[in-house]
Amino acid sequence: MFSEEVPSKMNQQCKVCGEPAAGFHFGAFTCEGCKGCITVVIELVSQTTQAH
Ligand SMILES: [Zn+2]
Repeated sequence: MFSEEVPSKMNQQCKVCGEPAAGFHFGAFTCEGCKGCITVVIELVSQTTQAH
């Protein structure tokens, strides 16, 4: 049998890589690893949105 996994306090996935999110950062759920680069993603998205 598998051992118990980490208690799912949040049933959210990282917006960047799809791993279990560690928290809500800059308007998106991200894991610890992507927490630092989510700003780049947000910038890219906003650039695309503002591209008129
Ligand atoms: Zn991630």
